[in-house]
Amino acid sequence: MGDIFTIQETSGTSGTPKSFFLTWDDWKRYAEKYARSFVSQGFGREDRIIVCASYGMNVGANTMTLAARRLKMTIIPFGKCTFPPRVISSYRPTSIVGSVFKLLRLARQLKQEGIRPEETSIRRLVVGGESFAEESRAYLADVWGCPVFNTYGSTEGTMCGECTAFSGLHVPEDLVHLDIYDPQMKAFVHDGECGRAVLTTLLEEGTKAGTLLLNYDTEDTTTVLSRSTCSCGRTHMRIINPQREAETVWLFGSPFNRVDVEAGVFQHGNMESLTGEYEAIVGDGATGGEVVMQVNLECRDPGSIDKKGIRDRFTERFLKYRNNFAEQVSAGKFVIEINFVRPGGLGISGMKGRPKRLVDRRLRQPAR
Ligand SMILES: [Zn+2]
Repeated sequence: MGDIFTIQETSGTSGTPKSFFLTWDDWKRYAEKYARSFVSQGFGREDRIIVCASYGMNVGANTMTLAARRLKMTIIPFGKCTFPPRVISSYRPTSIVGSVFKLLRLARQLKQEGIRPEETSIRRLVVGGESFAEESRAYLADVWGCPVFNTYGSTEGTMCGECTAFSGLHVPEDLVHLDIYDPQMKAFVHDGECGRAVLTTLLEEGTKAGTLLLNYDTEDTTTVLSRSTCSCGRTHMRIINPQREAETVWLFGSPFNRVDVEAGVFQHGNMESLTGEYEAIVGDGATGGEVVMQVNLECRDPGSIDKKGIRDRFTERFLKYRNNFAEQVSAGKFVIEINFVRPGGLGISGMKGRPKRLVDRRLRQPAR
């Protein structure tokens, strides 16, 4: 304990929080990973970044702040996305780090105050903390008029970042060893196949760590995209955006993730009417074997929107790569019910912390 600098906890989204005991050297290694990620995204000493991630028991915000010191960047440590608009005009920040939904909310708030997000000093956004659909990233980039970079960081100490080539997240392979494991197969999978990210800490000979990971199961799923040199010149392998296993639901023997629902929400043509806020609840249908997914979409004015168009675009995207689900829909076994609510009308509205947007309320849980 004499060598421990801080004790951190995971956010505990799936059960009891896990403890991590970090030495100062651990912090420096974490910061090294984030610093690389920032550099690969084009950040430098002229940048001023508002950090919206919270400075709490999670390591993310503090690690970014330490990383910024190495790059000689300026950090504005708000710790939340609900800062007053004057912050944008006073300090002319060049970037904001936050989640997709917090940054969309911030953009709406700025517009209400008469500030156009795309005309501010913001040159790039960094998102992390949760997985997202490519469609929601595209919409966020459009709203802010700048590129949006993804980072995947966790208290466990993975900090993988997307570079300017936007072709997967680079894994800092000299600091962490990442394997992809399939719990059903009980084996590691080949590149290109999806499985759970399993981490092992790598240390230089003679160095110590407060918490050492050996084949640690992150419960996040991903796929190795490539081990060849990236067009940005970096040689570290790249993975696809990890998804949380806790946000995956199995239906009729096939899985889908919250991100698949989100992809349907953020379709082109939907976003003139929707705010992007959504929730999906899976439940038992009226008869045995029937499943209903109720999708609630928040919109600015439910009275004046093309509900059929939004329903069609959502369903088409959701079923696009899922023949199994499409067959069940045709057979009447799977009902997708789409509802429209006013701002603040979602079940998750006003909830503290990261909302659970995809909930499985079936009493008859299926076998996988
Ligand atoms: Zn790259």
